[in-house]
Amino acid sequence: MAGRALAERIRAEVAREAAELGRLGLATILVGDDPASAVYIGHKHAAAEQAGIEPVDVRLPVDVDQDELLERIAALNADDAIDGLLVQTPLPPQLDEAAAQEAVDPAKDVDGLHPTNAGRLYLGRPTLAPATALGVLALLDEYDVALEGARAVVVGRSEIVGRPVAQLLLQRNATVTMCHSKTADLAAEMRAADVLVVAVGIPHLVIPDKVKAGAAVVDVGITRTADGLVGDVDPAVAEVAGFLTPVPGGVGPMTIALLLQNTVRAARYRRGPLAFPVG
Ligand code: NAP
Repeated sequence: MAGRALAERIRAEVAREAAELGRLGLATILVGDDPASAVYIGHKHAAAEQAGIEPVDVRLPVDVDQDELLERIAALNADDAIDGLLVQTPLPPQLDEAAAQEAVDPAKDVDGLHPTNAGRLYLGRPTLAPATALGVLALLDEYDVALEGARAVVVGRSEIVGRPVAQLLLQRNATVTMCHSKTADLAAEMRAADVLVVAVGIPHLVIPDKVKAGAAVVDVGITRTADGLVGDVDPAVAEVAGFLTPVPGGVGPMTIALLLQNTVRAARYRRGPLAFPVG
């Protein structure tokens, strides 16, 4: 159940829409020189360029202070050439991540982390939602996984994956259980799931006897090991599950595709007479 082909299709559609809209800009702010973050930013820029979206690469020194960061965000908010804006995390310890997220104009918040957008998602209203969560739902839809009335279990409650995935599943009329590190009997919760989404970051946390026969399993986890990228789900789960996304090549490629799609949606709002955000 690969994500690459679907991600390619979404990116091609984004490119078509971007060409229709004219010049689009996606700005990223990277503080410091964390190599992993620099790689992620590089991938986002390359994908944006490929889709005809102009990347704007703002780099700030590792010791930048909060005021300077907020000033740079404000300048990009005010810049009409910028349709989407994100602040790459993690930020160095002297910086307040939540304050930076809240400083981004919600209409340009392509990461979907501004409380306005997160609140709209919670209320079940159209919004810009985090790209990885949108990618999970797009994959489930691509493979016609029935969500209405399904028992969905989400393991992990981060603001970028677990929480928004749970809200999106709820909007689709699944009966949703959220699990985390303090869940009393995680195995029992997982075994009850028709749809199981795992976003924890512990390699092979989910093994075959923790999965219901025929369940749809989405593995969001990515851990770098000496043997390459490893997911949260043991690949042997494929023998039990009806559907399992691979790592790598499952949710991973979807994230950038949906980030670009969010940029197009944000641009449509800013250029059109539509009420925010675009539904
Ligand atoms: P995170 O912020 O570290 O959150 C991890 C979540 O897992 C927390 O809610 C934590 O519970 C829960 N958890 C930890 N240990 C657990 C256990 N033993 N049993 C049950 N739950 C447990 O992580 P994240 O940012 O959501 O990322 C999760 C994974 O997805 C990582 O491997 C990350 O690399 C990957 N990821 C992939 C993509 C992609 O594009 N494919 C995007 C984002 C993240 P508490 O809340 O109780 O601490």
